[in-house]
Amino acid sequence: MVLDRPGSPLRLADLPVPEPGPGQLLIRVLACAVCRTDLHVVDGELPNPKSALVPGHQIVGTIAGVGPSAPLGTGPSAALGAGPSASSGAEPAASRWQAGDLVGVPWLASACGQCRYCRDDQENLCDRPRFTGYQVDGGFAELTLADHRFAVEIPRGGDPVHLSPLLCGGAIGYRAYSFAGDARRLGLYGFGAAAHILVQLARSQGREVYAFVRPGDEQAKRFALKLGARWAGDSSQAPPEPLDAAIIFAPVGSLVPAALAAVRKGGTVVCGGIHMSDIPPLPYSLLWGERVLRSVANLKRSDASQLIALAMAIPIRTEVRRFRLEEANEALLALRCGKLSGSAVLEVASS
Ligand SMILES: [Zn+2]
Ligand SMILES: [Zn+2]
Repeated sequence: MVLDRPGSPLRLADLPVPEPGPGQLLIRVLACAVCRTDLHVVDGELPNPKSALVPGHQIVGTIAGVGPSAPLGTGPSAALGAGPSASSGAEPAASRWQAGDLVGVPWLASACGQCRYCRDDQENLCDRPRFTGYQVDGGFAELTLADHRFAVEIPRGGDPVHLSPLLCGGAIGYRAYSFAGDARRLGLYGFGAAAHILVQLARSQGREVYAFVRPGDEQAKRFALKLGARWAGDSSQAPPEPLDAAIIFAPVGSLVPAALAAVRKGGTVVCGGIHMSDIPPLPYSLLWGERVLRSVANLKRSDASQLIALAMAIPIRTEVRRFRLEEANEALLALRCGKLSGSAVLEVASS
């Protein structure tokens, strides 16, 4: 499914089978979850996408081929592969991956390996990153390519459809969750794909979740309570108790003062979206008391692989609505209308 230009619907197209280059994997796509960022790409809210782009950046598939090994010293250094599943950036693709292995491809397609952030184990902040389904073709397709160093191993037995939402929304949500520290009372603003994963993780760790939804969205409130939220209310409401931390997933800047007002002194508010409307002026008293306001940008490989391991162990069950590959436009529309509980997933092939 190809995006010819931002603002146009995706077009079903027959493309040549991609040829894996040095260090690349050829992947047979099994499932690709749809993310809010796909909407931002399709709508042109993110500048300069690849032209004739195959979107989709939450891919689970199997290895169908491995390109020749990249010559050493041309890519990210071995130190870059600090995540538990990417222990050696210079390791040849063929020794790490075998045909038929399950593999995940996340939003971060590659990082430069040379900037101060890459050298400092902050590849998510790389000065020259490339993103899947934005600057390189992604997973709204039967076959795709990925840089093997940035692909994530998925243990045997993993369910492609249910694990795919973890590869962007889930992993960035998990990163935001880690910045919430040991918060016992955690607020989640916007109860979509990421929040429905985090509420299950938070519950398994004995935390209380307070879900804030679009005013009047009773379906989202019921969904949050069903998954174990202690309280669910409108985003305009104050929580029944002050929160230790809050994560904002909805791309709505006016939620920032609301969330700051809902957290206690010393509490943290994390903005988890890649795009947000302007934040209105806010009185300093909302930030006073050592409250912390921060954002989360992208993800590290380790965020994705840690979350996948947790999800399989707890287990976390993602709520999905399945679409066929050629229904990608309908899946994007369902996400846009906010009528989804959980995630839309393109089920491209059965495993
Ligand atoms: Zn870099
Ligand atoms: Zn995403």
